[in-house]
Amino acid sequence: MSARILDGVKLANEIKAEVAEEVRQLAEAGMRPGLAAVLVGHNPASEVYVRNKVKTCEQLGIYSEKITPDESVSTEEMLALVDELNHRDEIDGILVQLPLPKQVDAKKVLLAVSPEKDVDGFHPMNVGYLSTQRPGLVPCTPAGVMEILKRGGIPVAGAEAVVVGRSDIVGKPVAMLLLNDNATVTVCHSKTRDLPGVCRRADILVAAIGRAGMIAPDFVKPGATVIDVGINRVTDPAEFREFFAGDPKREADFAAKGSTLVGDVHPKVAEVAGAITPVPGGVGPLTIAMLMSNTVKAATSNATSRRTASCIVITSAFGARNLLSLVALNADDSCVGDREREQIPRFATATW
Ligand code: NDP
Repeated sequence: MSARILDGVKLANEIKAEVAEEVRQLAEAGMRPGLAAVLVGHNPASEVYVRNKVKTCEQLGIYSEKITPDESVSTEEMLALVDELNHRDEIDGILVQLPLPKQVDAKKVLLAVSPEKDVDGFHPMNVGYLSTQRPGLVPCTPAGVMEILKRGGIPVAGAEAVVVGRSDIVGKPVAMLLLNDNATVTVCHSKTRDLPGVCRRADILVAAIGRAGMIAPDFVKPGATVIDVGINRVTDPAEFREFFAGDPKREADFAAKGSTLVGDVHPKVAEVAGAITPVPGGVGPLTIAMLMSNTVKAATSNATSRRTASCIVITSAFGARNLLSLVALNADDSCVGDREREQIPRFATATW
């Protein structure tokens, strides 16, 4: 039996269409979400990622800026750049593309990004929100994994979930999201004993390892859902044959390009699993879609904070009573709660 394919391209297109609609509605309210992508140096993979992110912003109507500091940039210069972006109202999301050159303290730079603009969801404040189930910005790839499960009709509550990999970027946040959705979660890593045995317990198996085809068919319980986060480039013909011998489409691709992509899950797992994400075309496309979704989420919450902040400034300058009178001139202002709005006419008559 062959597994149902969880088509990441189709799901990502659905999410992007929803985000484009949100952007259109925000535009009607005079708002345009904005993303700044900071790309240092000429890492070819990073250049492709940033180009795709900027292109997707354009497609969805999100304002974007690509900022390319020189490769010799210092930590202090990067911190100054992040600080400037933190203070710019038209920028709602800041994405610092990793890796950064070795003279730059990447942790310090990521920590400097305002948590409200941290669309990658890496800031400790957002990590804390995730682990305490408060609203915040969730890392894009893990959020994409959850969307695949949700939109793919895979029940999570009560399921045995096994996550292989414990990185801060993928494994840990995926595990936390699954736990928050009431799965029973086991996290595996390089020191886990009897990895195949632990994986075989899984109704949902997530592989985020970075090792081509490591999850073999005997790691998988028949009928389980397998989410393959891994992206590995195979260039060795012997390794290629181990994964794809007899697959004419892949063979043509490999012959033309001299390489092909394989996940952390062996392609033969599709003969055992109930549902599986392909590589390419599985989790990857969801990552960009969730970045767009995070940017719109950040824009909406940043706009609310700015409005609240300006209300507080007016309040302290004029006093609450006069604020309500002022607001009476614009009674649909969303920074005024229903209770205050009810009181406006009374204050307004008393004051004016
Ligand atoms: P990391 O290298 O940061 O983490 C890998 C994890 O796998 C570690 O926790 C490591 O364990 C564990 N691991 C390594 N070898 C073994 C082993 N033999 N047995 C069990 N566990 C092992 O990788 P990332 O989390 O950043 O990425 C994982 C994969 O996902 C990569 O292929 C990456 O390219 C891909 N990726 C894909 C994205 C997408 O958009 N689709 C986005 C981000 C990543 P330990 O902690 O003990 O060392």
